[in-house]
Amino acid sequence: MGELRGSVAVVTGAGRGIGRAIAEELAEGGARVVVNYSRSKEPAEELVEKISASGGEAVAIQGDVSDAGQAARLIEQTAERFGRIDVLVNNAGINIDRTMRKMSPEDWDRVVQVDLNSCFYTVKAALPHFVENGGGKIINISSFVGQAGNFGQANYAAAKAGIIGFTKTAALELARYNVCVNAVCPGFIETDMFAGVPEEVQEKIKARIPLGRVGKPREVARAVRYLIEDGDYITGQTLNVNGGVYM
Ligand code: NAP
Repeated sequence: MGELRGSVAVVTGAGRGIGRAIAEELAEGGARVVVNYSRSKEPAEELVEKISASGGEAVAIQGDVSDAGQAARLIEQTAERFGRIDVLVNNAGINIDRTMRKMSPEDWDRVVQVDLNSCFYTVKAALPHFVENGGGKIINISSFVGQAGNFGQANYAAAKAGIIGFTKTAALELARYNVCVNAVCPGFIETDMFAGVPEEVQEKIKARIPLGRVGKPREVARAVRYLIEDGDYITGQTLNVNGGVYM
């Protein structure tokens, strides 16, 4: 079984939302956590204090992971600080929603750059560390939108579908190094991202979810923890945490 206690976990975009819940969950399991943030400095530092106050170990590291150099620096700073990397959770993501008639090439590029390309940058930088350790776990946060498509989200759906293809390929390439690579596909989850959806649309969304409610960040975080602790024979998979909205 994957040992969380004492392991070193990097979570991208961990100041807020799902990333924050993942960082908290892993810290509770005894991991030493790197709370990466891009702009949310205060929430990230506040989370580090919270984890430290409850006896855990965490550090906040700034870095825009959509920039290959900054993504590599995040990984190098982690290795310098803790001497190893056992877990990488690619959670950072944005959305710029518009129908394709209104979507600009810049809207397309930005979402693909942040949501998809960042995963390649961090994995590439972390790879030598995983090889040196003799194994590790990579979890990429995709979305049910990457499986089902969604009106007004061509850029986001393409990036999230790309994450699934990337995850399977990384799983194939890294299996020889005992690195398991999986994707988690959340459905609609209560975060700032969902809060940005107009209220009337939120109601329509809830009506579409078989379990009748939006998910909680912690429910995604528990799935990530499961893959780390109990997923030694799980690789190249997508784990759906979506209330049944996509089956
Ligand atoms: P959120 O509340 O909007 O938070 C987004 C997070 O991503 C923030 O911590 C943000 O950090 C970080 N981030 C954005 N751009 C970044 C960059 N260039 N470099 C580093 N960090 C960056 O979103 P969320 O709902 O928690 O979403 C987290 C992940 O889950 C995303 O990949 C999202 O696509 C996915 N997801 C969410 C839902 C949902 O319903 N909420 C459903 C399916 C999948 P800063 O604040 O520091 O910029």
